[in-house]
Amino acid sequence: MTGDPLSDARTEIALTAAHLARMGWSEGNAGNISLLLPAGTGLDDDDDLVTEQLQVPVQSLAGRTFMVTTLGSRFRRLERDISTDIIPVKVDDSGTAAGRPRGSRKPTSEFSSHVLALAVGAARGWETASLVHTHSTSMLALSSSELPGEMLEEAVERAHPEVSFLLRRGVKFLDFMAPGSWELGTATAELFESADCVVWRKHGILGLGATLDEACDAVEVTEKAARLLLLEKSAFDRFFGLKDRELKKLY
Ligand SMILES: [Zn+2]
Repeated sequence: MTGDPLSDARTEIALTAAHLARMGWSEGNAGNISLLLPAGTGLDDDDDLVTEQLQVPVQSLAGRTFMVTTLGSRFRRLERDISTDIIPVKVDDSGTAAGRPRGSRKPTSEFSSHVLALAVGAARGWETASLVHTHSTSMLALSSSELPGEMLEEAVERAHPEVSFLLRRGVKFLDFMAPGSWELGTATAELFESADCVVWRKHGILGLGATLDEACDAVEVTEKAARLLLLEKSAFDRFFGLKDRELKKLY
């Protein structure tokens, strides 16, 4: 780490992306990551930025800079493409527009979910915040079932003890929506008001945390839960998971 917030954030994102690629959760250009920098760090007001209006204002991010992976970036290449495929974005002081350095690549197509979820984290008073999105295999399979979301949420929360330790706010499932839309971003952010992890059914997982590691933890424990549930279903034809009396022993 260099002590430069932009450079250090790029390194953290690239290392996490390489890990997620090795796990097989980011085929092609799948997956995207963002990391909100501490207030007072990031882009300056006099930097030459290309600014666009945000369809949904984000007052809690006013004046803040976050790093985000770009449209079409590949997790397996991010360490090599670190200077071009992870870009800073600064929200203006009114929270209604965001700018990126002129000449830089466009942010991920899931930009709306990143900016709105980071706003949820900032509104909680977190100094930093991060959103990690992957196309994790087991959860893709589990969430493609026609089982109700509430049933899957409870099954995930009972699947293994780490879910209780690392996802204090739990998991929410969202029915399939068009990728990349502000409607999807808004619905996702609403669920993050009371969750650490949101599953986009038939698409992937999103983890929100105060740090990049916490966001990645949320994705990992949720994907592990999905894998356990699929194994239990195939071996015993039902989900087991932690019983009420066992859950109580965790607290
Ligand atoms: Zn995706």
